[in-house]
Parts: sequence; structure tokens; C-alpha cells
Amino acid sequence: MAEKEAIKEAKARVAMPEQEPEERRRNFDEVPLGYSPEMAVEEASRCLHCRSPSCVEGCPVEIDIPAFVRSIKEEKFEEAIEKIWEKNRLPAICGRVCPQESQCEGVCVLAKKGRPIAIGNLERFAADLARERGIEEASPKPEPSGKRVAIVGSGPAGLTVASDLLAEGHQVTIFEALHKPGGVLVYGIPEFRLPKEIVAAEIESLKGRGAEIRCNVVVGRTITIDELFEEGYDAIFVGVGAGLPRFMNLPGENLVGILSANEYLTRANLMKAYQFPEYDTPIPRGEKVVVIGAGNVAMDSARTAVRLGAERVRIVYRRSREEMPARSAEIHHAEEEGVEFLLLTSPTRFLGDEEGRVVGMECIRMELGEPDSSGRRRPAPIAGSEFEIECDLVIVAIGTEANPLLTRSTDGLELNRRGYIVADPETGETSIQGVWAGGDIVTGSATVIEAMGAGRRAARSIHQYLARKADKMGSGPALG
Ligand code: FAD
Ligand code: SF4
Repeated sequence: MAEKEAIKEAKARVAMPEQEPEERRRNFDEVPLGYSPEMAVEEASRCLHCRSPSCVEGCPVEIDIPAFVRSIKEEKFEEAIEKIWEKNRLPAICGRVCPQESQCEGVCVLAKKGRPIAIGNLERFAADLARERGIEEASPKPEPSGKRVAIVGSGPAGLTVASDLLAEGHQVTIFEALHKPGGVLVYGIPEFRLPKEIVAAEIESLKGRGAEIRCNVVVGRTITIDELFEEGYDAIFVGVGAGLPRFMNLPGENLVGILSANEYLTRANLMKAYQFPEYDTPIPRGEKVVVIGAGNVAMDSARTAVRLGAERVRIVYRRSREEMPARSAEIHHAEEEGVEFLLLTSPTRFLGDEEGRVVGMECIRMELGEPDSSGRRRPAPIAGSEFEIECDLVIVAIGTEANPLLTRSTDGLELNRRGYIVADPETGETSIQGVWAGGDIVTGSATVIEAMGAGRRAARSIHQYLARKADKMGSGPALG
């Protein structure tokens, strides 16, 4: 059948079974339940195997999508995961959290009919099956290079650098400020979207391959970049993310009951507040919760508040639905779970009681004007449209900034005017020889796969640098 005809005839995608909204409102278990092998084969069979497949271009790490989808269709599941591993070390994570609708699935030819191949679901299926069956990547043990690399931050950027450098025989040590490695994958994205055992399995696999992970080390405070060089590291990668919460500086913002999404999610996820009394981390469990913002972080906060027992959860966003930056699946899930959306609305001040606790928020209605520098239509307040809403917990999820702890303590590290590290986009090299950077600390808040892509490019450049260094010294094994 000609491609055009096949697109017209395309069947609907195989839906992934999910926990029912009423049931999942009361637990933190993962919402989508995964494909069975039969479902995966059926979904993979819809792929047209286009002559020039656009999906690959839509994937930031260029997974050979048609090849792995074909392997699933032919029930060669092991072959499918091996194809994916060639380009992506964290497929169980990416299959769950990548914004596929604006990446590979967005450019699949079947997207024109609104029925792109469920590439993310299939990637997740292959990765989960491999984990369940104990299939591991067949990576030959490399010859040790004798070179040591320090990696600061254990998010997706740092983990990718570690994995790629281990494969080249370098010794890697990851320094992590928190008591658990994984970055946002562990402290930010909730269990119901990304089960922590999946991240833990990836970290265990890195350790099994020789990575050393030192938690509770704040580079810039406990130890500096200069001191890491003094300790004998040959190269350093900085992947510290952009976790400093941003606030709105509105009157009343310091009332009790107003906190950043970062703090709220860290208490819930990393510190397991939802597993009370097994974990006794305090967390405010509001009844009338307001979340300000409409990105993934806002959806995660709102859905966490639902699960912690809130009576009413509202998202307040100053633009319209079309401009909401969260993944469409997350918005849909939040709606199904009863989260309400107050769109074209912006907070103007917070109202407190005599004990200094938040009891309400004054808002103003907005209208959209011309597009701003982000391409989204600029919201403008409608004079005289102020109104008040009741709330006892406000979670601010309007974005984050670069944390200056490491950058301020590192002389000679060039930053841009927003405090992010200036790094070569192709190599990750910074203004300091021997120091690379990548992920959110360079780009500002982005995505898991972009952080991984930056990690991969930096690892390649670090490896070349170490090879040159070894050549110059005329010592050690040849580094290819
Ligand atoms: P991070 O993941 O932030 O990791 C940085 C690590 O460095 C952290 O562990 C931090 O503790 C550590 N660190 C910081 N400073 C120091 C220091 N001085 N010394 C030692 N260690 C330090 N992206 C998606 O693609 N899909 C999603 O669905 C999605 N949802 C998200 C939901 C939430 C709640 C959040 C916050 C982000 C989400 N993102 C999502 C964005 C994505 O998680 C980030 O873009 C990505 O994690 C960035 O990776 P990174 O490695 O640069 O940094
Ligand atoms: Fe074509 Fe979509 Fe299959 Fe890619 S996933 S080969 S774009 S049908």
C-alpha cells in the first residue's frame, strides 16, 4: 500500500492501560501500567517503516526508531532493547518522561492523522521487559585508562557522562549534594510518574560497572573545583542542574503555607513524606491547595496534593490552555484526577490570618496580547478584574534558576547574565581548561533527554581530551 494510503487507513494507537482516576487519587503507584507483549506487538505493527523516517530526526539522541519498532513487531524483544541502548542508556526513564508529542511522535508521519506510533510506550515496554528478564547491555570490559574524572551532580546529565566514560575505561566519581543520587529523577518527578526503583536500578548498574558515588558532598562548599584538581582528577564535569526556586515577590509571599514546588516535591519524593508514619518527614497537607504555574512541575505538585488528601486543588496560570508548557498527558491526567484550572489568572497578593498563615489569594484576570520573546502571547492584566480565592496551601511552580553555590566559588568560570555556565554547545567545554558542563546548569530548565544529550557530547569531548593528555605524556594505554 502506498504511504499516503496507509496514513489514511491508520488504525488508532493501542491505549496503555492505566489505574482508574478514582483509585489513583489515593495512592502514589504509577498511573500507566505498561503494555503487555501482545499490545506492544500490535502497536509496533502500525509502523509504516517510512522510506525516510522523520521520527529519528525528532529524537534528540537519534535512536533508530523504525529498527527497534520492527524488532518488537517481530517479537525480537532483546534485539529491540539492544537497538535502543546503542543511543540511549536510560530508556525506561525516557519512555516515561520524554515529551514525545513534541519530539519523535510529533514528527511521525501518522501524527498528521493524530495517531502517531506510541514510540515512548514501546521504548518503555522494551526497557521494562529487559529489566524484568535481567537482560543487561553486553558491554565489553574496557582496558583501564588510568584517568580519573569527577562528575558533580547525579542527574541525567551526570549519569550519562559517567556511563559513557566508564565505557571508555576511565575511573569516575560522582559527587552529589543530596543524600541520594538521581537528581530531579529522584527528588522532583513523583513516584506515580517515574517509580524510583527504575532510577535506582540504573544507578546500581553504574556502580556495578565501577562508578563511585559520594553523596552529601556539596561542591563549592564541602570541596571546591580547584581542590578536586588538587586531589588528582584529570577532568571535571559539572551537571548541577538549575534547582534554585523562583518566587514572585508579591505582598504576603512569606506567609506560612506558601512554599516552592521544589521544597514540596523534595519533601514528598526524596524524603518520602507520603509514606507517613514509616517516614516522618513533615509536609503541609492543605485542604484548599493552589498551585501557581502550568509546567510539568506544577502538574506534579497538583497531583501530589491530590494524593496527600486535599479537598480541592487549583492550578492558577496567567496564560491560556494552549500555552501551558506541561506535557499534554500530564495535563490530561491532572484533569482526570480532579485538578481544576484557573486560566488567564494571575496572583497579585496573598492574604493571611492573625497567626501569619495563608488563607487566601487575590488574583486578577488576564488577556493575551502580542507574542513575547518566547513566542507565546504576552498576558496583560484586565484593570479592575481582581477577585479573591480561599486557600490554605500555595505551591509556587513558576520556574527555577541556577544555584550559585558552585559557580561563585569557582574563579574563572564564565557565566551568562542569568548565572548559567557558558559552555560550548557541541563539546560542553567551559572557560576553564579541564572543566566541562551540561544539562540545566547550562541551558536553564529543559528536559531529561536534552540533559542526557549534553552529557553524551561532553563525555565524547572529555575522552578526546584525556586521550590527548595521555599522548602528550607518552604514558598509559592508548586511548582510542
Ligand atoms: P538535575 O536533574 O537537576 O540534577 C542535578 C544534580 O546536581 C542534583 O541531584 C543536585 O542535588 C546536584 N547538585 C546541585 N548542586 C550541587 C553541588 N554544588 N554539589 C554536588 N551536587 C550538586 N523533563 C522531562 O523531560 N520530562 C518531564 O516529565 C519532566 N518533569 C519534571 C518534573 C519536575 C518536578 C522537575 C523539577 C523537572 C522536570 N523535568 C522534566 C526537567 C528535567 O528533570 C531536567 O531538565 C533534568 O533533570 C536536568 O538534568 P540535570 O542532570 O542537568 O540536572
Ligand atoms: Fe514512520 Fe512513524 Fe514508523 Fe517513524 S514511527 S517509521 S515516522 S510510521
